[in-house]
Amino acid sequence: MVRQVMVPATAEDNDDKRRDAALRPRFLREVIGQKAVVKRLEIVVNACKKNQEPLSHILFDGPPGLGKTTFATVLPNELGTTIQMTSGPALSKPADVLPFLTNATEGSILFIDEIHRLPRWVEEFLYSAMEDFRVDIVLGEGINARTISMPLKRFTLIGATTRSGMLTGPMRDRFKMHEHLDFYSVDELAEIVSVNARKLQTPITPEAAVEIARRSRGTPRVANSRLWWTRSYAISEANGSITLPIVQAALQMSEVDSAGLDKQDRRYLETLVKVFDGGPTGVEALAATLNLAVDTLSDEVEPYLLREQFIVRSPRGRLATARAYQHLGLHPPTASGDGPRLLFE
Ligand code: ADP
Repeated sequence: MVRQVMVPATAEDNDDKRRDAALRPRFLREVIGQKAVVKRLEIVVNACKKNQEPLSHILFDGPPGLGKTTFATVLPNELGTTIQMTSGPALSKPADVLPFLTNATEGSILFIDEIHRLPRWVEEFLYSAMEDFRVDIVLGEGINARTISMPLKRFTLIGATTRSGMLTGPMRDRFKMHEHLDFYSVDELAEIVSVNARKLQTPITPEAAVEIARRSRGTPRVANSRLWWTRSYAISEANGSITLPIVQAALQMSEVDSAGLDKQDRRYLETLVKVFDGGPTGVEALAATLNLAVDTLSDEVEPYLLREQFIVRSPRGRLATARAYQHLGLHPPTASGDGPRLLFE
């Protein structure tokens, strides 16, 4: 049960969110992959049910689209409780977070997405709410000001972040569970694609599901949008069934290449290789040249390129690997004209 949503979003974001919400697993048993995380959550959910006590605060971290919100929305269904949803950028002052805290019922869940973007004074305001289930509120001004301590119901805070390194130590310590979500295997993504195609009442062959999975950057949200696009293509250009040739044609049309990289990924690699001579270069210089926000590069573009070793990070900045050159159809440069240039400094 989702009670309140306060996440500012563009129209395009809203489309993505609607589609994601429709395809989102509702219970832990429906979650595909992340097996160790699912197991640990099953244990704490069972313990809470048996002891009839609220879940401890949980922090999920990992790149976008890997299931942080999914886990947060599955847990209230498992526990039979409600969830309020908001995000760090929407909470600019303690008064913004106060209604969520006072509305929280015993055992209910408050989900804060992008929790690393909470301003420091909101974060500090949350400390006593998380630890002692009370908040100190200042009433009046000047010499008439007085502080009252308001008790809260024992709620569970679930935080999600793409940058756990940006959370302060005191905030991190108040989460009793810290779960990191990693990229999915092709098999796991193929299962997600097949299950979601069924939900969309779209026939899909096993090879087609694997092909979409292979080209989805290890990320369920990307798999959903590739599936969605391929389905539209199949309906418009064929009989509505998704087969391997349909996937290949649809993804070629949307400029997703054989490794699953999209236009933005390739622009990143081309800029690193052609403008910065393969690096090392700082992410700020890359972002300025690409006319993109540093956060977009480090949260959305780089994690997958790093994982697949198209780039590596060194103390002096990002470096293109031989795989990046090969992918762009270029020869890796040589150091002194004989032998490949040292790319991994
Ligand atoms: P995040 O909050 O990490 O950005 P989401 O939880 O919004 O990612 O996931 C995006 C979409 O991907 C979900 O709506 C859901 O459809 C799908 N998804 C994510 N994780 C899983 C999973 N483990 N099993 C099945 N589908 C998933």
